[in-house]
Amino acid sequence: MKVSATWNGVTFSETDRCVIVGGVHYFPAEYVDSRYLEPNNHRTECPWKGTATYFDLIVSGTRLPHGAWQYADPKDGYEHIRGAIAFSPAVRVERVDGEHDLESHVRSGASAVQKAAATTAAKGPITDTNEEILSFLNQMPKCEVHLHLEAMIDAERLWRLVGRNPELLSRIAGREDLLRCFQVRSLDDFITLFIGVIQPAIAQADDLTLFVEAARDYMQRNRIEYAEMHLAPTKLLEKGLDFEEMVDVVDRSAAEVKRRDGLEMRFLIDVSRGFGLENAQRNLDLTIAHRRDCIVGIGFGGAESAGPASEFAIIFRQAREAGLRTTAHAGEVVGPDSIRAAVDLCGAERIGHGVSAVEDRSLIDELARRRIPVELCPSSNVFTGVYVESIGDHPMRTFFDAGIPVSLNTDDPVIFGVELTDEFMSAHQYHHFTPAELVKLNDYAIDMSFMPESAKRAMKARIQAVVGDTT
Ligand SMILES: [Zn+2]
Repeated sequence: MKVSATWNGVTFSETDRCVIVGGVHYFPAEYVDSRYLEPNNHRTECPWKGTATYFDLIVSGTRLPHGAWQYADPKDGYEHIRGAIAFSPAVRVERVDGEHDLESHVRSGASAVQKAAATTAAKGPITDTNEEILSFLNQMPKCEVHLHLEAMIDAERLWRLVGRNPELLSRIAGREDLLRCFQVRSLDDFITLFIGVIQPAIAQADDLTLFVEAARDYMQRNRIEYAEMHLAPTKLLEKGLDFEEMVDVVDRSAAEVKRRDGLEMRFLIDVSRGFGLENAQRNLDLTIAHRRDCIVGIGFGGAESAGPASEFAIIFRQAREAGLRTTAHAGEVVGPDSIRAAVDLCGAERIGHGVSAVEDRSLIDELARRRIPVELCPSSNVFTGVYVESIGDHPMRTFFDAGIPVSLNTDDPVIFGVELTDEFMSAHQYHHFTPAELVKLNDYAIDMSFMPESAKRAMKARIQAVVGDTT
């Protein structure tokens, strides 16, 4: 077992006590001490290490289902998990530097236990085992509406593009180097990978085929039958790629996936707020001029802190007039006013993230009353760390219980190392969503999607046939 590791800039040695806080966890087998961690049935593709196995934590001889350790008595557990390395950026590993620190962790652990106990008491005992829930989730056909195509490429496919790019090769020595770039642990790492490697690696429209193939693999792994993905053309247009060629490639590749694998992909063209109104107008005009079957609408992305959504209201209006559907990233890193602007001033049909609404109860109530759908991206929010510290802290329960139609999404699954099935599993383990509620989350995703009503009904019927009655 390897007992020394660096995580978030902190190096752990064998004698350090550490805690693992929150999130979905991948423990590649070679780093796991079998005395304390025991494999369970949940296996998943880990982007950097091939297949990773989920482990249950053994605390003082007691087997805790994976995820439950967060609510265990930390006094017993902390020493036992030293040396384990988590590869998902959704997980924080913290070194405990002294008794004082340990005590504060114990206290926060204890309040988590109380919170979990209170939730369980209110909802009645959870009788399903994690294995049963996981097998149920693995079978359930799913819908996901908040993904970014560029952030779905895996290291193997990206290497094919990097390998023929002299500029990138001067910075990235080999596959191992590229794999290291995929170990994203901070926003800086994310930007290095996304803007420094992935975007420059796209040299021609045809390269987008690899991205669609990677997205198909992700959908297959998670049994996602229908997905909506953002495609951001701005940087690609800047380097001389042709918009029409790009959408033709994406349309052709998506149609091929539909024909061969039966999976449906739809795209939202990004009218980013980060590059100004003129740029957004150009992207919209191109979208309207070269609309293809696979394009369902526009996505309003880019740096939310760059400025208010109000000046882009005209883009939304033109999009609607052209028959395009609309969704806006809002309330991801900026407060409730950003959500109000996207909904009231721009008329966005859906809100991406929306997590900051939790700061304003009247907004939560309003979103519920007006049935405005919110695309929740829990692990992504943990990664960004602005409103959510850990999966257990995510306010998904508040949104759901208030009656807001919310869906679960991964945002950038390959880069964050999180799968949609993980997000559902976390909703169950950390927020006590029952099987019926997990189906409801999936139903909400279908309802808020931009697929035709007949397709929505057909997909719900397929789900019903697979999962049966969950009430
Ligand atoms: Zn996003």
